[in-house]
Formats: sequence, C-alpha cells, structure tokens
Amino acid sequence: MKTALITHADCLGHVTPDGHPERVARLQHILHALEPLDLNRVTAPMAAEDDILRIHPADYLHDIRAARPTDGFKQIDGDTFMSPGSVDAAFRAAGAVVRAVDMVLGGEAPNAFCAIRPPGHHAETSTAMGFCLFGNAALAAKHALDHHGLNRVAVVDFDVHHGNGTQDLLWDEARALVITSQQMPLWPGSGRVDEDGAHGQILNIPLAPGSGSAEMRAAYEGQAFPRLRAFQPELLIISAGFDAHQDDPLANLNWSTGDFAWITSALCSLARELCDGRIVSTLEGGYDLNALSAATKAHVEELMKAAT
Ligand SMILES: [Zn+2]
Repeated sequence: MKTALITHADCLGHVTPDGHPERVARLQHILHALEPLDLNRVTAPMAAEDDILRIHPADYLHDIRAARPTDGFKQIDGDTFMSPGSVDAAFRAAGAVVRAVDMVLGGEAPNAFCAIRPPGHHAETSTAMGFCLFGNAALAAKHALDHHGLNRVAVVDFDVHHGNGTQDLLWDEARALVITSQQMPLWPGSGRVDEDGAHGQILNIPLAPGSGSAEMRAAYEGQAFPRLRAFQPELLIISAGFDAHQDDPLANLNWSTGDFAWITSALCSLARELCDGRIVSTLEGGYDLNALSAATKAHVEELMKAAT
C-alpha cells in the first residue's frame, strides 16, 4: 500500500496579504515537489461541524464563520488573516486529518501526509492565532480516541514554534502524549519544560537559538523517543513544520533538509515498533519556499520508504 497524500484545492483559496509568510505559494511549491512521487492521492473532504466541535466550542466556530470577509481580508489576530476562502480551506484542512486517521486506522493506507493550510498547531480552544484557525493535529488525536476508540495517541510536533494550541487542546487529555520541540526564546513564548499537562503527559523540548542537528538528535534520542516507547501509542500524529530549517526566515535553528529525513525515518521506525507503522502527518509551518518544498519532499519520501 502507498502513502496517502491528502489535500484539496480549497486550501489554495485561503489567501493572505502580500508579504505574509503563510502564503498560497507554500502549498503550491510543496505540491509541485511531491508531483513525481508515487503516492495515493486523496481529495480531502470538508470536516463535519461535529469534527470541529470535538476540539473547539460552538461559539468559537460561529465566530470564525462570522469573521469570513466577502472580499479582501479580515485580520483576526496580530498575524492571522482570513480571506473569503479561508473557512472552506480550514474545513478541508480539518477534513484531511480526519480522513487520514480514518484511512490509517481503517487499513486503507499505512501512513498519510496532509498537505494543507491553514496550519493548526497554534489555534487554542477559543483563540485563533499564529496563522491557525482550527487545531488540526489535536483534532486528529481526538478523532482517533473518541471516534475510533483508541486508548493512546501520541503527537510529535517538530515545528520550530511551540505547539501551544495542541498543548492547550490536549492539556487535560490523559490518553494523548504530546511531545513538542521548539526554539526558545521564540514566539509564542510558551513551551517551557514545566508546562507538562494535567497528567504529566506533555513533554516540551526547548532548543537554543543557533542549535542544529546534533542538539536536535540528542534531544529526540534522549527525551522524545524514550517517552514514546514508554507510552506505547496506538497511532502517531506528526505536526510537520519545516521552519527549523537553516534557511527559514522566521527562526534561528540550523536543521538541514537531511535532519527532516532523519527525524521522519526515526519516527517511522518507532511507529513500526510501537503501532504497526501507523502515522498521520500534517503540515504546519515552513516559510522559505525552497527549503520547505525540499524538506517536505524528504519527509514524505521517508513515509513512503516506511510504507513498503
Ligand atoms: Zn512554525
């Protein structure tokens, strides 16, 4: 079986103002880079309203819908904008991760990558922020737990920014292990090691500005992988942000494209050992178009190798 690539053209309909880093061209570059790969290409459905309500309250969903402009842009946070197509894009992004979980748990795909935007890991329970509207990774976890009846799901977030939204949405969820590495200090400022969840099930891994492969590999081998082994997840969800890349303009870590292949390969090995290889990966950040598309391709190629 092939790795599933789940996306939808509606995700290109979420438009941001000129000069905004989270732009349509990101997804265009990724899709172009993935074009030659032999993937199971799947059209993302719209998430159902009930899917969104697994993680966000009804009044938040109402506010997001109400904020949709009929033309131009609506700014809903210091750096988060909506265009007329943003609500549909957000529902496709959420629908993609739900479909990915259904496929991987249903035996239709060994693993899946959701090429989506807007990203999700900064969206908190009732607060859109950091280019994010709905918490896609947390939704994937909740869908696997509540709809499919799993008992243990792990989320690994290697985006350079702290996955504050995922942490917030899963803070009380004892069935979800959340591991998030981030440059610190860096926006949004959270992600200290003492932020460990209501059940001690959140592991924050701060990384120093300027650090690179060696520090990242030591942190994952020393902290993240043992926690994953101890937790024994039945599904692994990856918040795949590629802005820890050395060429990224928004942060100062020095990961190479090869580091993204390394971490993906390591997570695939762990998933094979722990949960039949089941991985759902979803796109978060990454703002240098060439670095983003190369690192995403390296990530998906490792998922493909693990699928054979
Ligand atoms: Zn990021």
